[in-house]
Amino acid sequence: MNYVLPHIDKLEPYKSGIMPKDHERAIRLHLNESPYPPSPEVLAALQHTSAEVLHRYPDPQCTELRQALADFYQVESSQVFCSNGSSELIGLLFRTLIGEHRRVAIPYPSFALYENVAASYQSETIRIPTDEDFSIDIDQLMACAADVIVLVNPNAPTGLLLPASEVERLARGFDGLVVIDEAYMEFVETDESVIPLIRELPNLLVIRTFSKAYALCGGRVGYALGNSSLISAFEKGRNSYHLNTITQRLALAALKDQQYMKSNAAAVRRTRDAFSSQLAELGFTVFPSQTNFVLCTPPANSQLTAFEWMERLMEQEIYVRYFNADRLRDKLRISIGTDEQMDHVIAQFKAALNYSD
Ligand SMILES: *Cc1c(COP(=O)(O)O)cnc(C)c1O
Repeated sequence: MNYVLPHIDKLEPYKSGIMPKDHERAIRLHLNESPYPPSPEVLAALQHTSAEVLHRYPDPQCTELRQALADFYQVESSQVFCSNGSSELIGLLFRTLIGEHRRVAIPYPSFALYENVAASYQSETIRIPTDEDFSIDIDQLMACAADVIVLVNPNAPTGLLLPASEVERLARGFDGLVVIDEAYMEFVETDESVIPLIRELPNLLVIRTFSKAYALCGGRVGYALGNSSLISAFEKGRNSYHLNTITQRLALAALKDQQYMKSNAAAVRRTRDAFSSQLAELGFTVFPSQTNFVLCTPPANSQLTAFEWMERLMEQEIYVRYFNADRLRDKLRISIGTDEQMDHVIAQFKAALNYSD
């Protein structure tokens, strides 16, 4: 007997990056984690956590964190929803707003989790191909006959950014729900967020996370901003105590220390730009990233395929991301670590390419 629903049975589980065994030695450049620890304020909040927080149920409305986010973005707290990572939000999005047998348009390539969750809700994903250079054509996206459009901006795994004005044109020109995943927006120097537009556009939902620039991926906190009717749907659909007290406090402390987050994001940008130039000098094609990772194609004359490069680096305990997916098979996605870690990666590439300098 098979007790599993047929549409679930045929799903492939979402493939996250592998977890290195030797945590001490591993250079983790495959999960877009921050190379820097969370703010000292976060660590202080963690240390001041007493056993009492385990004894009592957490605040299911995340009142304090929600209010802090609302103040920060100058919106109402009824326009903010906090979640157990933005991954939980993506599930809630389908559970409460999109539902079954709907059509969801998303540029390709992009964050694969949306497709996986859509399939688990028996909704269809329409992949809108990006151009040769991975740029996204907003008009093409708008013209698709879909119920919902999802746009990751800056996009993953390409790192490319669309200006806020283009995203705004999309949100105004499309009648259905428009979901903008801004997981990497803190790394964008000019800030092309469309969060200010949620006050005005009832079909716009923005998803953010503490996982990347705030270095809190182990804590699992994401949030959504949108019209209060969208947000109240999440309130109705969520699990009862979905965000534990410790996590709520850590996110609050992280949010308050903007200076720390911003200086780390700036450091990541500097390292990324230097690393990208070095890759280009070695003959890699590097896509212009606005995030904490770069997508690149190893040089054609390097004798190794992208998959073999990934394996070669792994032998040196350097983990980078390889996607066995259309248009990505000849590429690597490399997260930005410290300067020292990136120098180490460049040294490995040089050695394998027989560079002498
Ligand atoms: C990393 C990432 C997230 C964050 O996921 P969490 O569940 O919050 O850790 C969301 N969207 C995209 C596109 C990402 O790359």
